[in-house]
Amino acid sequence: MRQIAIIGSGPAGYYTAEAAQKQWGDEVRVDIFDSLPVPYGLIRFGVAPDHQSIKGVSRRYEATSLSNNVRFVGNVMVGRDVTIAELQELYDAVVLATGAPHDKKTGIPGEDLRGVHGSAAFVGWYNGHPQFAELDPDVSGQNAVVIGNGNVALDVVRILAKTRAEFHGSDIVNHALDQLDHSQVRKITVLGRRGPHQIAMTPKELGELGHLERANPHVDPADLPPVEEDAALDPGQRKSVALLRGFTEIPAADREGKSIDVEFDFYAAPKALLGADGKVSGVEIERTRLEGGKAVGTGEIYTVPAELVVVCIGYQTSPIPDVPFDEKNGRFANEEGRIRPGLYCVGWARRGPTGTIGTNRPDGFAVIEKIAEDVGDGAAKPGGEGFDRIASERTLAVVTFDDWHKIDEAEVARARDGAPREKFVAVQDMIDAARS
Ligand SMILES: Cc1cc2nc3c(=O)[nH]c(=O)nc-3n(C[C@H](O)[C@H](O)[C@H](O)COP(=O)(O)OP(=O)(O)OC[C@H]3O[C@@H](n4cnc5c(N)ncnc54)[C@H](O)[C@@H]3O)c2cc1C
Repeated sequence: MRQIAIIGSGPAGYYTAEAAQKQWGDEVRVDIFDSLPVPYGLIRFGVAPDHQSIKGVSRRYEATSLSNNVRFVGNVMVGRDVTIAELQELYDAVVLATGAPHDKKTGIPGEDLRGVHGSAAFVGWYNGHPQFAELDPDVSGQNAVVIGNGNVALDVVRILAKTRAEFHGSDIVNHALDQLDHSQVRKITVLGRRGPHQIAMTPKELGELGHLERANPHVDPADLPPVEEDAALDPGQRKSVALLRGFTEIPAADREGKSIDVEFDFYAAPKALLGADGKVSGVEIERTRLEGGKAVGTGEIYTVPAELVVVCIGYQTSPIPDVPFDEKNGRFANEEGRIRPGLYCVGWARRGPTGTIGTNRPDGFAVIEKIAEDVGDGAAKPGGEGFDRIASERTLAVVTFDDWHKIDEAEVARARDGAPREKFVAVQDMIDAARS
């Protein structure tokens, strides 16, 4: 029998559990820990609330959780409630699937001004992450700037641009919906250091922007490379660039009545966040040009006003005591998922914050092969029973998968009309729902 502890119940954690079941059937026991009382990581707290079909992938993880040899061990923060060394004593293999929950810093002056938020915080706010529920972003100004040219930037733009009616069927939390209702934002500038060919925006997300009630997307035709150059792009990227080209040709009549301008500002590197009285008021930008695929400054400086800035330039993993960390790449130091025999990492904690949900699946399967090489038939370790003794000695309020079902039911029951759920945003409310 092999005993495996997986730390993190996002996609990478669940795909690893699934791979362990495929590899060993009944000859493995898996505990999936999460610091929160609710499972699924960024499926719940990252994926946009108006993209419910994508969130549906959690049904597959639920099937894994409901099998006899996999347990969910929620509300346990590894590194605080139990150490890695303790878990390694108890389990043959410990797999870190802790994701990359921290915003990368831009490193430019003014980042700490009020009104400047990283995307982890801003996305966490509208998705009801307990850590960010109180963020209270100020949407009383007319100008927002979103820094970054990936899908997260597009999610943020869409959330800022949608009307209340357009959130029908989503599980955006009530506190965000109410605040966005009073939003005065009329212009959203999206800054990218490079050009249209270098965006990391997929056609579905970009296409949506052209069909919103209020959003009026603008691209400067002068920023677009000659159309013949699109042929060298891969098909998905070509589609995205075609959508940007389409935004330059929207007839004036179709733009009429749309009250929120979304300005794609390419070749634009933010140099400083400007402020008055500790609050952001604008972004100083340097025009760039491409040299060998890299953005280099041209010396031309200009400023755009901004009362709200959301920085969407990527994430990094949180270090855990006694686990070697790769500072440069913001993830655990590892070789193909192996940190050292007995300790492994998968998903964003292994590769950094790139790829889609499905990209995490091969990671899970690859790491199980490494574990199979290292642990053989297992060393008769105590596994979950050993952890349960620690939990009871430390009076940890562990949340089980049955408890999660109770939280889930309570969230579904309190949903506003048309919404799939209204999330609890305080950990204590989640625990109370589990115990009721
Ligand atoms: C804003 C946003 C939108 C996205 N939208 C899409 C999309 O539409 N489609 C798509 O395919 N992909 C999307 N992605 C990417 C996708 O969410 C990731 O690929 C995926 O979630 C990464 O999985 P993971 O398991 O590595 O990390 P995560 O999903 O982050 O899971 C990590 C888990 O570890 C837990 N954890 C962390 N530290 C500890 C600890 N010390 N102890 C215990 N538990 C811990 C966390 O609570 C969390 O549950 C999006 C990402 C973001 C940020």
